[in-house]
Amino acid sequence: MNISIFVCVAVGLFGLCLGSFAGALVWRLRAKQLLKDKSDIEMSRSEKNEYKRLKKLTRASLLNDRSQCLDCSYQLKWYDLIPLFSWVVLKGRCRKCHEKIGYLEPMLEVGVAVFFILSYILWPYPLDSTISILRLLVWMISGVGLAIVFVYDLKWFLIPNRVNFTIIGIGLINILLILFSSTNKIDVLLNIVGASIILSGLYYVIYLISNGKWIGFGDIKLGLGLSFLLADWKLAFIALFAANFIGCLVVIPSMITGKLKRDSRIPFGPLLIIGFVIAGLVGTYLIDVYMSILLI
Ligand SMILES: [Zn+2]
Repeated sequence: MNISIFVCVAVGLFGLCLGSFAGALVWRLRAKQLLKDKSDIEMSRSEKNEYKRLKKLTRASLLNDRSQCLDCSYQLKWYDLIPLFSWVVLKGRCRKCHEKIGYLEPMLEVGVAVFFILSYILWPYPLDSTISILRLLVWMISGVGLAIVFVYDLKWFLIPNRVNFTIIGIGLINILLILFSSTNKIDVLLNIVGASIILSGLYYVIYLISNGKWIGFGDIKLGLGLSFLLADWKLAFIALFAANFIGCLVVIPSMITGKLKRDSRIPFGPLLIIGFVIAGLVGTYLIDVYMSILLI
């Protein structure tokens, strides 16, 4: 496939904008979660402080509301909302109260932009029909939801249901697109069932064995969405393998240095997402290499 620089720049800019949107959603979802927790459970002191700071966002609509500074409630103008550019110009601070904005927003913006560009460059299927272009778009849009899960789970050890169900919904659209363009529909469905068993079913077994201690129910739902998006049991296996492999690379050194205790919680969501991206973009290539080694 010919890689067009123009398309790279376009999808990169598109990714910056959607990453910025993801950043705003993360705080709104967190505010709504704390509002719910406040009436359900006893909150810790840090959660109470966080709730105080985010309280104004609990009234904001999730999808269409003006963004504001979390400290002084300054309503951001259009020129404060240019992804990355505004953050750099304002040196990461609020225009009005000069409080630090934090790194979450620019990192999400760059993260989603890089994901979009890599997805376009490495996409393993030929982009020769409307269906295959739609599949790439569905994959990219799912990446915005996954970016939210990534930071949310890393920060608060939780995956919001709304995002998980959105990702499952996007996965179902992906399945419909594959079924529509495939001649062997039974094969496609069996493949998806296999992928779901690997990425979601196994986590469900671990969840049952550990009584929900090692793994949260959010991971099981996330695994289901990811298996719908990969729609291939071999790719699901690569995703699981890569997630665990990277998990070991992160966990073992931090256990040796004592940073991580035996009972420390490990967010599985981000690991699973990294494994998923690797499987989706280079998984078929890895399978080809593996098969050619076997044939020698
Ligand atoms: Zn401010």
